[in-house]
Amino acid sequence: MSRAKDLLDIQFAEQDIVEEIAIMAGILTRCEMCDDVVWLDDSEDNYRLAYKIANKMVTEGEIGPKYFNGNRRTLTDAIKEVQGSLYCHCEIVMME
Ligand SMILES: [Zn+2]
Repeated sequence: MSRAKDLLDIQFAEQDIVEEIAIMAGILTRCEMCDDVVWLDDSEDNYRLAYKIANKMVTEGEIGPKYFNGNRRTLTDAIKEVQGSLYCHCEIVMME
């Protein structure tokens, strides 16, 4: 496997990790129908919860050192930047 592909895999995995944490913290939610990730509640409390979950996952080794440069700060910064859609595909279809 090439190094570029490795890096790409890590970036995709990091994106998944950040999304999962945001979903666990209630910031985002995943639509069961179309799999889109949409905003649920981006309150301060939910972000605080997300950082707590992230720190716990690093401490417990669920997030290995090859992700986020092995840096908790990079991980929390990634959570701050997390993006969801305003509407998922099903809602868009229903609106049309
Ligand atoms: Zn949907």
